[in-house]
Formats: sequence, structure tokens, C-alpha cells
Amino acid sequence: MLIAIVAERTASETRVAATPETVRKIIALGHQVVVEEGAGLRAAVSDKDYADAGATVLASRADVLANADILLKIRPLDVHEIDEIRAGAAVISLLNPYSNPLLPRMAEKNLSAFAMELLPRTTRAQSMDILSSQNNIAGYRAVLLATQYYPRFMPMLMTAAGTVKPARVLILGVGVAGLQAIATAKRLGAVVEAFDVRPATKEQVESLGAKFVEVPMTDEEKAANDGVYAREMSEDYRRRQSELVDKHARQADIIITTALIPGKPAPRLIEAATVEAMRSGSVIIDLAAESGGNVAQTRPGEVVVTGNGVSVVGTLNLPGLIAADASNLFARNLLTFLQLMLTKEGFSINLDDDLLAATLVTHEGAVRFGASA
Ligand code: NAD
Repeated sequence: MLIAIVAERTASETRVAATPETVRKIIALGHQVVVEEGAGLRAAVSDKDYADAGATVLASRADVLANADILLKIRPLDVHEIDEIRAGAAVISLLNPYSNPLLPRMAEKNLSAFAMELLPRTTRAQSMDILSSQNNIAGYRAVLLATQYYPRFMPMLMTAAGTVKPARVLILGVGVAGLQAIATAKRLGAVVEAFDVRPATKEQVESLGAKFVEVPMTDEEKAANDGVYAREMSEDYRRRQSELVDKHARQADIIITTALIPGKPAPRLIEAATVEAMRSGSVIIDLAAESGGNVAQTRPGEVVVTGNGVSVVGTLNLPGLIAADASNLFARNLLTFLQLMLTKEGFSINLDDDLLAATLVTHEGAVRFGASA
């Protein structure tokens, strides 16, 4: 099989879908790898590194795609990539399946496309779970990003010139990113509080030494949120949540929001009035900026400084700020997933495998997202 890697076209995308380590492993399994020139440069991988690992490096993207049996990618394919790729190839990538207008075009091209966002969150899938590996990085980087805008110390300091109070950090949404943000902020010496709609997160927050902000829930509301993903909540719950979050947010120095609901716009957790009541110099990092944001003032890709001096940071693609390690983990996730299908002789898609069935969004000329997800 010929496995292809292209340079990502999105300007803010610095990651690459294969590294010399994964290229070597694919070749050791008896396959070939072709890489577009410059594909790894922003992730600290040179063309020579790929060539030394055994890949063929080609200058033209069209040449890379024309003979590809399997394309590994970070971002969804654009129209040019769909036009240039060999009809009938397989694609393994993030594909934004909930709102990707190009899925029908990919089906017309007879691509077998796997959307890694749809991977079930099961124990067997953990080593292939791109959302986890990348959100973990985003949570860590969000805290470091906050320190860039925050004009004070994070830890408590006792100096000859007096005592400095520790920063109060509030984390909203305690999935993979939120947990890593808690751990990172604690390591830097901040006092950390966190909140999530899923009651199961309380124990996780407390085990990291942070305080859980608890919105009282009815038994029905608890039962609705006992899965791995959050559900959209009732008007009444949202009002109670908003009052409590508002109270804690006004006292916070740094807020990191990570709340997402798969396939839906990000829930609004912080209203404009709350931000306007925060003290000057406070910082909000909105990790949900790409899905509309958790904060009223968030502008995706921008840093908004409000009239009262609060920085609302909507920087996108935080894993891309740690491009080398983010690519290392992403590439390993993809390779492990690819190995579900690679055989010595070639490649076969077994739809009895729940991980393949859940992620395959176009196949045999049809869009199958919805039927299986
Ligand atoms: P996510 O990125 O989908 O969402 C981030 C967090 O936002 C979630 O914890 C969610 O509950 C929370 N949220 C949503 N709406 C909210 C609101 N209105 N207010 C406050 N918080 C809100 O989450 P994720 O990081 O992808 O993790 C989702 C789940 O998957 C977690 O339970 C995680 O532990 C689990 N998981 C399991 C495995 C595995 O077993 N293989 C691997 C990874 C993650």
C-alpha cells in the first residue's frame, strides 16, 4: 500500500499526520510512504528526516495524492485535495463530520473516509483517541497561554517586599482538556476551582486537589449526564448554573473554558456582564472558540481586551502551538488506527469492528454518517 502525507493547507495548522517514527513503522509493516515536501517543517520534521526514515519526498501535492492508497491527514480535505486524490482511496483524518459540506463530494470520489472525531470513547480505542491526545495538550497549553496575558504571579510568594497572593483559576468543563488544565495550574501554584455538568467529574476534580463548584441537580438531570459526553441542559438548569458560575467567575483571576457538546454549538457559560464585573488584568482562555465559544466576548482567533481590562483569548488550535509533540501523539494515534486495517497483502475494512463502523463516514460511493453514528 502507498500511504500519503501532505502539508496541511490551513494557515494556523502546524501539525503533520506522520512522523519519522510512524513512517519507519509503516515501512517495517511492508508498505511505502510518500510525503509532500515541507509537510513536517512547522512540526520540527525536515524532508531529510522523512527521507532517512525511508519515505519518498515529492515536491508536488498532486503527485503525492495521485497514487495514494491511504491518505493520513490532520484537517478535513479541501476541494483541491478531493479532486487530486486517487478515486477509491482511504482517508484517515479529523473530518468535522457534523458540519462538513464536502462529504457528498468525497463519496462521489468513492473515498473510504474515517472521521477520527467519531471514535468511540472506549478502553480499546484509547490508544487511537485523537480528541484525547490533542485535548490533553490544549489543556496544558491553555494555562501557559493564560500566563502570557496575566500580569501577576501564579503561585503564592513570600518575599522581603511582601506577600503575593496565588492566582485563583476557574476551569469550566472538565473533560480531558479541563483535567490537564487543573493539573497544570496546580503545578504552577494556583488555587483552582472547576465545574462540569457531568456529576462524575466531581471526584476527578477533587483527586487533583481542586475544589468542585457544584450546581444542585435533580435526579433526572444527574441521570441525563451520566454518559461520557454532556447533553444540552434545560432552561431552568442553565439559569441555576449561570448564577453560580457568575459568582465564581467574578472572583477568578484566570478562567479556562473547555465546554463542548459534540455536533452542537458550544454552550454559553459566561455572559458579557460577568466579564464586565471581573477585575482588571483577569484572563479568560476560551478553548471552545472554534465551536462558537463559551464566553460572550470571544472572537475566534482573536484576543479581545474589554473596557474593564479583561483579556478574552480566542486563540485557535492550541495543540498546534506544541506542534512537534502534538504531531508525535497524533501520528501514533493514526498509525494504531491504520493497523486495524493494514495486512501484509494490503488493506481491508471490516465493518464488524465497532471502531471502523463508527468512524467510516463515506464508503462505496455513499455518505454513511448518521446511519452508523
Ligand atoms: P469534550 O471536549 O466533549 O467536552 C469538554 C467538557 O465540557 C466535558 O467534560 C463536558 O461534560 C463539559 N461540558 C459540556 N457542556 C457543559 C456545560 N454546559 N457546563 C460545563 N461543562 C460542560 O470532552 P472530552 O474531553 O472529549 O471528554 C469527554 C468524555 O470522554 C470524558 O468523560 C472523558 O473522561 C471521556 N473519555 C473517555 C476515554 C476512554 O475511556 N477511552 C477517553 C477519553 C475521554
